[in-house]
Amino acid sequence: MLTVEEALEAILSRVSVLGTEHVDVLASLGRVLAEPIVSRREIPPWANSSMDGYAVRAEDTRAGAALSVVGRVEAGALPSRAIGLGEAMRIFTGAPLPPGADAVIPQEDVEATNGRVTLKGAVARAAYVRAAGEDVRVGERVLEPGVTLSAAEVGLLATLGHAQVTVYRRPRVAILSTGNELADLGTEPGPGQIPNTNTYSLMAQVLETGGDPISLGVAPDLLPAIEERVRRARDADVILSSAGVSVGELDLVREAFTRAGAELHLWQVSMRPGKPITFGSLGGRPVFGLPGNPVSAMVTFELFVRPALLKMSGRRRLTRPRLRARALAPIPNPGSRRGYLRVQLSANGEGMPGARLTGEQGSAILRSMVAADGLAVIPPDTTVATGDTVDVIVLRELP
Ligand code: AMP
Ligand code: MG
Repeated sequence: MLTVEEALEAILSRVSVLGTEHVDVLASLGRVLAEPIVSRREIPPWANSSMDGYAVRAEDTRAGAALSVVGRVEAGALPSRAIGLGEAMRIFTGAPLPPGADAVIPQEDVEATNGRVTLKGAVARAAYVRAAGEDVRVGERVLEPGVTLSAAEVGLLATLGHAQVTVYRRPRVAILSTGNELADLGTEPGPGQIPNTNTYSLMAQVLETGGDPISLGVAPDLLPAIEERVRRARDADVILSSAGVSVGELDLVREAFTRAGAELHLWQVSMRPGKPITFGSLGGRPVFGLPGNPVSAMVTFELFVRPALLKMSGRRRLTRPRLRARALAPIPNPGSRRGYLRVQLSANGEGMPGARLTGEQGSAILRSMVAADGLAVIPPDTTVATGDTVDVIVLRELP
């Protein structure tokens, strides 16, 4: 059986970054930039005032000096003339500095009386002046390919006049649930049936990872039915199924993947929850067969599918942040597989976050996933005692 690290390595070595596309600048939020951005503009384009006040020559300023106000310039306009010795010009925030001026004196630092201002003190050269190009110079490389675009980058792109930008494509992920017992959302489960959970939790995880989910619905436990759904996912970049990957007679997913033309690279990873997981390639596209229990499906997505999707999206950082936390109660991991146990994090761990199991750790107990802030990584046959520290994969922002 492979370790989690070996399995992840095997997966990532067979997954590569997708192509690029042009998107509107707002749609680039959260995407990975695929081109360098070199500024074609000077920002700000000209020296301007950062205050409402008077544009002056710094050398004319001292307490008690009186300057004559020779004009007025507002944001969006141009100064009508230059200022000379002993002159000032009324100016507003964002307005271009008139030629001859090299400083602004804020309006609260002068007494203004018909056409003149008397200064309360001196100002230094460049005071309250935003120099041309102080933010961005023409020709400067401001963003590198590979950065994940957040709100500040979107603003910068807009400032530089980019209505569109080149980013890596979002992976299209086809999702198939398998099992005779599954009743899909919208139908009341009949006798012996259970509601289909995984299609929805997995599609949500794909969305959270920046991918584009496509549902292939539910297939019964019949080889041709599963194979047909897999073949139908021709437009997808990734195929993801859940259930039917164990060793029972009705565990047909591996066989169906193979019949659909996939080459399988791995099965079974030493972890809890989630041991059976299949990964292969189908015409160069990754296919994953995740386990059926809802928590196992989510945890294996987290550990294997998420990093693969991030790599395909051009991301550099493929793993979640981890932290050390103090166990607030014992965290047992019986058995010979590494545990990824659902924990709630809190502020009371004495110098580090505290971690406590969210409850019953059965792989079908979705409520304990709902309550989880992270997954504590516990070695096999180990009980972490109260007060000891544990490694936690952080799944969401701490409360
Ligand atoms: P299997 O691997 O097919 O034996 O499935 C393991 C467990 O997961 C069984 O109890 C299934 O009923 C359950 N299961 C499989 N698929 C889903 C699903 N889409 N939603 C909820 N439970 C599921
Ligand atoms: Mg099944």
